Amino acid sequence: GKAPKGDKGAKNATGLGLRATKAGDFGEWYTQVITQGELIEYYDISGCFILRPDAYAIWEFIQGFFDGEIKAMGVRNAYFPIFVPEAALIKEKDHVEGFAPEVAWVTQSGDTDLKQRIAIRPTSETIMYPAYARWIRSHRDLPLRLNQWTNVVRWEFKHATPFIRTREFLWQEGHSAFATRGEADREVLAILDRYARVYEELLAVPVIKGRKSEKEKFAGGLYTTTVEAFIPSNGRAIQGATSHCLGQNFAKMFKIAFSDESSKEGGGAAAAAGASAAAADAETDAGAEASAAQAVEQATAAVAAASVAPEETDSEYTPGPADGDLLADGRRYVWQNSWGLTTRTIGVMIMVHGDDKGLVMPPRVAPLQAVIVPVAKAKDPEGTAAVNALCRRAKAVLDAAGVRVELDLRDNYTAGWKYAHWEQKGVPLRIEIGTRDAEAGTCVMVRRHTGVKEVVAVDDHMGAGVLRLLETIQAEMLERARKERDEHITIVTEWADFMTALDKGHMVLAPWCQTIETEEWVKDETKRIAELNAAQEGKETDARAALSGAAKTLCIPLAQPPMPEGQMCFTGRGGKATVWALWGRSY
Ligand code: AMP
Repeated sequence: GKAPKGDKGAKNATGLGLRATKAGDFGEWYTQVITQGELIEYYDISGCFILRPDAYAIWEFIQGFFDGEIKAMGVRNAYFPIFVPEAALIKEKDHVEGFAPEVAWVTQSGDTDLKQRIAIRPTSETIMYPAYARWIRSHRDLPLRLNQWTNVVRWEFKHATPFIRTREFLWQEGHSAFATRGEADREVLAILDRYARVYEELLAVPVIKGRKSEKEKFAGGLYTTTVEAFIPSNGRAIQGATSHCLGQNFAKMFKIAFSDESSKEGGGAAAAAGASAAAADAETDAGAEASAAQAVEQATAAVAAASVAPEETDSEYTPGPADGDLLADGRRYVWQNSWGLTTRTIGVMIMVHGDDKGLVMPPRVAPLQAVIVPVAKAKDPEGTAAVNALCRRAKAVLDAAGVRVELDLRDNYTAGWKYAHWEQKGVPLRIEIGTRDAEAGTCVMVRRHTGVKEVVAVDDHMGAGVLRLLETIQAEMLERARKERDEHITIVTEWADFMTALDKGHMVLAPWCQTIETEEWVKDETKRIAELNAAQEGKETDARAALSGAAKTLCIPLAQPPMPEGQMCFTGRGGKATVWALWGRSY
């Protein structure tokens, strides 16, 4: 869109503006937005970045929300070491295969070679579970539900993008162990729900909840659930956060088992399992969410359970000799899950909401929600005094209301420079007070996300009004992003239409037979065609780069549209379609 005349003048005068545009050169735009917006500083080791205070403040809001939620569910925080002994890391075969290429090793201390090299955690299953095996003895030790807030290191070879894909990142990782599969399944979805809320309620970014295909699931797990976000500017989807059901794979490798003493008392085991499941339900439901939301969750849980592991649809644990989870000593393996959310969240938020003037912060995570800028001529000391006095009054009222507000009284910058500066930093609301406002006792409020202005009285009601306005902005940002996301989803039932949709920068929802062969075929075929197109077009352009690369399954959405009778797989090379799957290019 066209910048209003005044702002254009300000940009020229200040020299602050971004040089790249979001539509013109997305990669360069992102770099400028995060550096000029003072979120990121580059660092000398490739793939590692400095999180500046405003970036860390956003992370703290996310932490505050999620930490409160999981504690209300009964999860406790702990801290485990950053180092992994090699023997532990390689215990679960699929797990180590999945992570091996990205593991960073410590091999020396000073000049001395270590006898045994030590891995830096890429994730902490293999650090925590040996301790779980010692701590869990009887059913009374269950459930064990721990979380930690840490850094992890994955020496990725894909191109690094600040926040989005970095070699060291911050995250939380939760790890629970239960007596029954039902409890583990339910917590997987309860956590997924909180991840969706981080994106939608805090970051104003819409996400699609789903389950990963077998090919894309967490290494060593039973099934993976995900929230998938979307970047309209380059048509790329991004895995927002994942909640995995590990089944009993890790329990078997690390011998995490419990003796179900009550089973000896005859029929007590089922009662105990039932009781603990009910307790877990009560805990996860403690958030007192709308019952409608819960009905949806239950329905989608049923979909998930049915499509996750068709051979294990009975998610309730029934004790008996038929179970394959009994150790020789009569103990049973636990059912586990693990779940993680990272600083990637911040990058997704920036990419979705930022514009050609810089960052656009959703009010709930904005380090600063409003900035007050006085507009008076230095030659007019009386006017300046009146303006500054009203600015201070507004600041005091907003402070008292709990708005995160700053008054920019610096006299070495013009008002125009300050506008551009705070716009670049994405402050949701700018409050201008000029000499005429000072006389009338009013101010002009300018919304960062739309540029809409309104005149408001500076009085004791102003605080409540601003809080309401910030919530309106938050809601509008989510709605705008949702509309744009939805406009980028195409339903495709024939392979012939797939590439067209993909090359429009869309995600594709298609009926799929869930075989690994068709999934790999789509990956290879989309890559081949994209390379062919690029070669024909000659030189690599930005637009072309955005359309490069293979498409893959993003997720199998939990909310499934009805499947038409006899619908075949869209690839034309599989059998009957069993699910609607979401496909796309991704980060
Ligand atoms: P995982 O333990 O592999 O399921 O990872 C948990 C979450 O971390 C994923 O769902 C991604 O959203 C995020 N993530 C994965 N790799 C990175 C990375 N290199 N930088 C930032 N976030 C990441």
